Amino acid sequence: MSKQYDVIILGAGPGGLSAGIYAGRNRLSTLIIEMGQDGGQIALTADIENYPGQMVEGESGISLVARMAKQAENFGVERVQDAVDKVELEGEIKRLHGKKDTYEGKTVIIATGAFPKPIGCKGEASVLGKGLSFCATCDGAFFTGLPVYVVGGGDSAVEEAIFLTKFARKVTIIHRRDELRAAKAIQEKAFANDKIDFLWDSVVDELGGDDVLSFMKVKNVKTGEITEIQADPKDGMFGVFGFIGFSPRTSLFEDMLTLENGYIVTDENMHTNIEGVYAIGDVRKKKLRQVVTAAADGAIAAMEANEYLSK
Ligand code: NAP
Repeated sequence: MSKQYDVIILGAGPGGLSAGIYAGRNRLSTLIIEMGQDGGQIALTADIENYPGQMVEGESGISLVARMAKQAENFGVERVQDAVDKVELEGEIKRLHGKKDTYEGKTVIIATGAFPKPIGCKGEASVLGKGLSFCATCDGAFFTGLPVYVVGGGDSAVEEAIFLTKFARKVTIIHRRDELRAAKAIQEKAFANDKIDFLWDSVVDELGGDDVLSFMKVKNVKTGEITEIQADPKDGMFGVFGFIGFSPRTSLFEDMLTLENGYIVTDENMHTNIEGVYAIGDVRKKKLRQVVTAAADGAIAAMEANEYLSK
């Protein structure tokens, strides 16, 4: 521990990086702590087509976020990779204890995001990374020429199913209802894609296989009927991608911040119940979780921190 920052931002997704850009541009000494790869969930997204101004052919979450990170660094924002496992948020100086170091700041912006929900079926843990994945961008190419199943019916599931058709022989979306939740424009693309099929009113009951994922039991929620899907012996396996939503990463803050269904409650200016502590992006209780709303949250929080510091 050597330096006391004006602003410490926890998480380098679009929200955290936008907060960094605004804080750095206001000449606040700013540190962004990220425990893994930059970008959060957006780094798992193959195609970005609804971030305003994004018309670059083939823009991925990773490429967009890399430019955001560079932009923050250009404003003097410091960055460190560390896993914070304890926080002290009360008082004028906040302390974040990581595996490598302890970080001190006058304000903290929490941008820890959310992580994919497990499918919740039997055998799930045994096939993780052996056919079961939660990231099409990371793992899609492993399934080149194989059949792939996507679980979920929201924007993520349908967008990633479309992306997976670049690699897979066929993609089947398994959805628990007979109607998708995804935005209509995304649905239209999926319905027009002849490599995509649908298994409606269905949930995955079990995943399994000896070394790799080679069988799956799917239950029809209306009839209760269970169908077993076996890998074609010529393939030896198939892929399953889970996209059934996300859980907020808030376990660090459970005893100190007001949470609702696990999400941090803030006012419209990103203030939490502790002075000088803000929450932004997908970790915050709100309705629309998008890159553009995370970025907006980040800008607001940084400006609020600036005002708080100048008092
Ligand atoms: P989501 O919108 O919460 O959708 C989750 C889907 O999984 C729903 O279709 C849901 O079914 C299904 N599901 C939930 N629990 C399930 C379970 N236990 N078993 C089987 N199915 C289950 O999650 P998301 O698609 O990841 O999107 C999260 C947020 O990010 C949303 O706000 C979304 O708009 C946003 N997003 C936006 C874009 C974009 O604009 N390009 C891309 C990706 C994500 P039901 O429909 O029956 O509830």
